[in-house]
Amino acid sequence: MQAIFTFLGTGPSAGIPLIGCSCDVCRSSDPHNQRLRPAGVIHVGDKVLLIDIGPDFRQQALKFGLSHLDGVLITHAHFDHIAGIDELRALNFQQKKSFPCLMSKETLREIESRFPYLFQSNEEKKSKSAQLDCQALPKEAGETDFLGVKIRYMSYRQAGMKVTGYRIGNFAYVSDIREYDDSIFDELKGVKKLVLSALREEPSPVHFSLTEAVAFARKVGAEKTWLTHMSHSVEHNWACRHLPPDVQPGYDGLTIPFQMNPHA
Ligand SMILES: [Zn+2]
Ligand SMILES: [Zn+2]
Repeated sequence: MQAIFTFLGTGPSAGIPLIGCSCDVCRSSDPHNQRLRPAGVIHVGDKVLLIDIGPDFRQQALKFGLSHLDGVLITHAHFDHIAGIDELRALNFQQKKSFPCLMSKETLREIESRFPYLFQSNEEKKSKSAQLDCQALPKEAGETDFLGVKIRYMSYRQAGMKVTGYRIGNFAYVSDIREYDDSIFDELKGVKKLVLSALREEPSPVHFSLTEAVAFARKVGAEKTWLTHMSHSVEHNWACRHLPPDVQPGYDGLTIPFQMNPHA
């Protein structure tokens, strides 16, 4: 069975254009240089699964016509990946049920502490907010069933925070990675299409540089890797030329078809 991933955002935590910045990329009229906060959506069978729900979620849902979602996979609890979570209330009203979300136990604890009102019962709430149906991942790595879709997951860390990477079929989404255990390559073995975060050309303490991302992608052995979470120092056309053909910059709206068979 074929599935499709679509980038809803490929920008850094502050998005591009950056507020108040007049650099060439922030002023660029090329849509490839306009990057919303990092997120994506997967259409698999009759299911629509969001990956991350940052502060641009409302804009992304409107821009890409997301009128229905079945569930959300959350990578970690940094602002640029979860700040839009309360916007799920629009879909709660429409779909008349609490919203299935998949994440690590650590991410769930963070979301509970930052959005306690999302976890109150309807009677306790003074006003309408999203209602979540959270499924916490039991281990550091493994396989789980989420809404009937087989999902593999793996853990790594960014600035001390636990981050979850997701693999569906021969596709994987690995964002906000810096510190990882080599066992991650076992989890990613056989991945043909990889989404990987890389902030900029220069090294960063919490993100891969472009060079580090290329090395990681090569170690995974993916047929093709698309970069996300790129800062305004990465001009799209420059990056297309500068990077090797098998590791290219993603852009908002880019679609990646993949196979549900992990060995396809
Ligand atoms: Zn991030
Ligand atoms: Zn800029």
